[in-house]
Amino acid sequence: MPDARAAIITGAASGIGRALSAHYAARGVHVVIGTFPGDPHDPEETLKLVEDAGGKAVIKEVDVRSTDSVESFAEESLSSFGRLDYAIANAGILRNAALDSLTDEKWTDMLDVDLTGVLRTLRSGAARMSDGGAMVAVSSIAGGVYGWEEHAHYAAAKAGVLGLVRSVAVELGPRKIRANAVIPGLIETPQSLDPVNSLGPEGLKRAGQDIPWGRVGRPEEVASVIGFLTSEDSVYITGQSLIVDGGLTVK
Ligand code: NAD
Repeated sequence: MPDARAAIITGAASGIGRALSAHYAARGVHVVIGTFPGDPHDPEETLKLVEDAGGKAVIKEVDVRSTDSVESFAEESLSSFGRLDYAIANAGILRNAALDSLTDEKWTDMLDVDLTGVLRTLRSGAARMSDGGAMVAVSSIAGGVYGWEEHAHYAAAKAGVLGLVRSVAVELGPRKIRANAVIPGLIETPQSLDPVNSLGPEGLKRAGQDIPWGRVGRPEEVASVIGFLTSEDSVYITGQSLIVDGGLTVK
């Protein structure tokens, strides 16, 4: 039997990252659960889901705005599990800002997390993969295909992720490391439930009625696609972006 695979997931104390931790646990993939210091989400709840599914995980603080923090996060996979196979750049923030209030500072802060944070995660992950591997970055329909007013900085960061992944996929192909992106539509998580920066509970419910699938997505429905993109079932897919939106953007 080969050793169990191991994954790092940033932003895994909530939402899509939490669901992915449980998805991996059920498939025997060990997880380093990335938790953001000072964040209200409880990583212990993620750990419990993993353990309930019979999996193995450790919780590790990570701030994707810091290269040192991300490097020691990726290193945790080697010290806890002796290997690193999958790097998932999932952490992200969403902020609302009309163009006339979108200061350089807001722009830079957004890109630091949602774009450079992805670079730091993929770079530190790839450096520790010794036996091939797979990486997935979480983009958004706001960056991939869809115009969302008052979110130019978020959209730019999420669009940047798509180019980053394509380039990395070409570069790391010879090492048998794949890089892909998922492009979620509207998914019910703490991020989209925030009524200030996103739609909030009522807005989500209303928006769901306009989606061909009849509702907004669940975190597990994105997690399973990320799981597919790191599994052997997608071994010949790299440099691609998969939209997971219940048909929202083809309507
Ligand atoms: P979420 O808020 O539950 O998850 C985001 C996580 O990122 C949180 O756990 C947060 O603590 C963490 N985080 C924030 N700043 C960080 C930092 N500096 N360092 C490390 N971690 C940090 O929401 P989610 O919807 O699960 O978000 C996951 C990803 O999905 C994000 O990249 C988000 O932009 C993307 N996304 C979400 C939706 C949606 O509708 N929910 C749609 C498209 C894309």
